[in-house]
Amino acid sequence: MRVVVTGGAGFIGANLCRELIMRPAINEVVVLDNLSTGYKENLSGVDVEFVNGSMLDRPTLREVISGADTVIHLAARPSVPRSIADPIASHDANATGTLYVLEECRRAGASIVVASSSSVYGSVPELPRREDLPTRPQSPYAASKLAGESYALAYGNSFGLDALVFRFFNVYGPLQSSGHAYAAVIPAFIHAALSGEPLHIHGDGTQTRDFTYVGSVVKVLADAATRRVAATTPVNLAFGSRISLLDIKDRLEALLDRPLDAHFAPSRQGDVKDSQAASRALLELFPDCEPVPFEDGLELTLKWYQEHLNLDGEAAQGTNDRHTGGVHV
Ligand code: NAD
Repeated sequence: MRVVVTGGAGFIGANLCRELIMRPAINEVVVLDNLSTGYKENLSGVDVEFVNGSMLDRPTLREVISGADTVIHLAARPSVPRSIADPIASHDANATGTLYVLEECRRAGASIVVASSSSVYGSVPELPRREDLPTRPQSPYAASKLAGESYALAYGNSFGLDALVFRFFNVYGPLQSSGHAYAAVIPAFIHAALSGEPLHIHGDGTQTRDFTYVGSVVKVLADAATRRVAATTPVNLAFGSRISLLDIKDRLEALLDRPLDAHFAPSRQGDVKDSQAASRALLELFPDCEPVPFEDGLELTLKWYQEHLNLDGEAAQGTNDRHTGGVHV
């Protein structure tokens, strides 16, 4: 089986590639990544074919996807603040890029797994978020992810493409980049804690997220690809946990056995207060999947940063998009 991973040099993609190459059903993994937020070093020692290119370059995309059995489409311009800084770039990557990938899957007869985001629920107040709730995107990022997932479902309906749309919640774990303005909250907290700096908290820290360990996410993605699972509605890929930023601070203090300072700043535009997944649809499609508990995932993640963070310079991987602080949904 030949599997293409778009965005495979990114955080989730590089963890996924490590999982895919272990699966006996898969004999070829090809990564397409333009290294805009990903790092080639994330794939060091991982037996994949790497193509340095953009999914917006249609001839390259066609060449990479032709002959693929399945595409796991992760490439995107992630983060809410990045989309507020440049909405058109987010639309190009997340909406138009997804449309191009779908079109090549259709030509190649490949199935597709698409990464969408819990941010599409936006200001909908109900918790947990069920997939049949309305969507109310609060940022250009969320709108672009909703456009991408809508195209995927429309391709399933219009062309019989086997498509599965996952709404990721807050994924965390090894290889997630830290130490820049668009860093997700867990790597940002760990980076600050290990550098002896205060944790930067937007709002009062009581906002909650359904943090999902990347190891749990990539197992489901790999199962979806090998079993060619398709669905006519999006599926949340998270397990219904609800953890506040202050909880993370407490747990890091316990793991490091020392108090951590926090610096509180105003809430950020486009961020939602609370987020938690309903996971019934996920468990119906993947009854054997088991989440790594948050305590264990955070400990594994902290250990990884302790071993890999270069505190003289930047995050372990490299120097894309250097700035400071943030939460990614
Ligand atoms: P990431 O930034 O680490 O990975 C995205 C990858 O896409 C990067 O390697 C980047 O270089 C690549 N890319 C961007 N534009 C490209 C283009 N035009 N052509 C080819 N490659 C391109 O982010 P991630 O956290 O691994 O996210 C993966 C996917 O999951 C994204 O679609 C993101 O929107 C979605 N998601 C992630 C989270 C999370 O918590 N990490 C939450 C919700 C949704």
